[in-house]
Amino acid sequence: MHKEVIIIGSGPAGLTAAVYAARANLKPLVFEGNQPGGQLSITTDVENYPGFPEGIMGPELMDEFRKQAQRFGADCYFKAVEKIDLSNRPFKLWVGNESYSADAVIISTGASARLLGLRSEDELMGYGVSACATCDGFFFKDKKVMVVGGGDSAAEESIFLTKFASEVRIIHRRDELRASKIMQKRVFDNPKVEICWNSKVEDIQGEKETGVTGVVLKDTISGKVSEEPCDGIFMAIGHTPNTRIFRDYIDLDQNGYIITKPDSTYTNVEGVFACGDVQDNVYRQAVTAAGTGCMAAMDTERWLESQTK
Ligand code: NAP
Repeated sequence: MHKEVIIIGSGPAGLTAAVYAARANLKPLVFEGNQPGGQLSITTDVENYPGFPEGIMGPELMDEFRKQAQRFGADCYFKAVEKIDLSNRPFKLWVGNESYSADAVIISTGASARLLGLRSEDELMGYGVSACATCDGFFFKDKKVMVVGGGDSAAEESIFLTKFASEVRIIHRRDELRASKIMQKRVFDNPKVEICWNSKVEDIQGEKETGVTGVVLKDTISGKVSEEPCDGIFMAIGHTPNTRIFRDYIDLDQNGYIITKPDSTYTNVEGVFACGDVQDNVYRQAVTAAGTGCMAAMDTERWLESQTK
C-alpha cells in the first residue's frame, strides 16, 4: 500500500501530526505501535494539559486525540513497524509480512522506560519488578514497595502507589529530588512515602515463585550495604528513545535521540520528520510533544508541496 504520509507512533506527537496532516488532506496512515496512545496510555491523571482544568485520565485524553485524527480521515492501525528503508524514496516500511511505502514519514515513536540493567531486574520483571505503577500498582495492596528514581515519574508513581501499598519508599541516588517543586511537596506531605537518600539498588532479591522479597541497597556516601525487605520495586529512572530501526539512516545524538534541524522537525533525511519525545530530551511533556507533532505535519505538507513544483 502506498501513502503520501505515514506516521510511526501514536502519542500526543504522532496523533497531533495525524490531525494536522488529515486536515491538510494528506490522508495519513498512523502505525500506533506496541503501546497505542504512547506513554500517556499508562498514566493516570494528566493535570497539566491545557484545556482540562479538572485534569483528565491519560488513556481518555489519547482516545480523544485519536478520534479527532480519525474524524478528519486519518487511518490508525494497531500495528508496529518492524523494519524501514529510508535510503530511497518512496520510503519502505514493513509490518510482519506486509510492506508499505510513503512519500514522507513522520517519526513519533517516543521513548521507553529505562531500567537499571541488573540481571535480577530482568529475571523478576513481572514478578514484583515493574516499570509502570499504573499498570501494576493494583497487585501490591497492603504490601511494601520501593520506587527507584528522583524525578517527576518517581514522585508521581510513589504517590499513586500509596493508594494500594502500605508503605512506599523512594530510593534515590542523590540527596535532592529532580522532581518539580509541586511534586516534591506532594511526596514530602504524604505520610506513606519515605525517601531513602544517597542510595543505589545493588541487587533485587526473590524468585519467580515467591516474587520480589527484598533489595540490596548501597549507601553512595558511606559505601555501606544493607538488605531491605519489600514485595515490589518500581523503576522510574527516565526513558530511552525508541530509535533502533532508524539508526542506520537518521542522525542521532549520543543518547540515541533524533537530531532535528533547528526550529523545525526536519531530520538529516529529506522527507523524514521527527516529533515528540523521540527528538526531545529536554521538555518531554504531552503539550510540547503535541506542539512538535503539529510542526511535523506542517513541515511535511510544505515539503510535499515543494516536491510537486
Ligand atoms: P527524569 O526527570 O530524567 O528523572 C530520572 C530520575 O532517575 C533522576 O532522578 C535520576 O537521578 C534517576 N536515575 C537515572 N538513571 C538512574 C540509574 N541508573 N540509577 C538510579 N537512578 C537513576 O525522568 P522522569 O522522572 O521519567 O521524567 C521525564 C520527564 O517527564 C520530565 O521532563 C518530567 O518533568 C516529565 N514528567 C512530568 C510529570 C508531571 O508533570 N506530572 C510526571 C512524569 C514525568 P538524578 O536526579 O541523580 O539524575
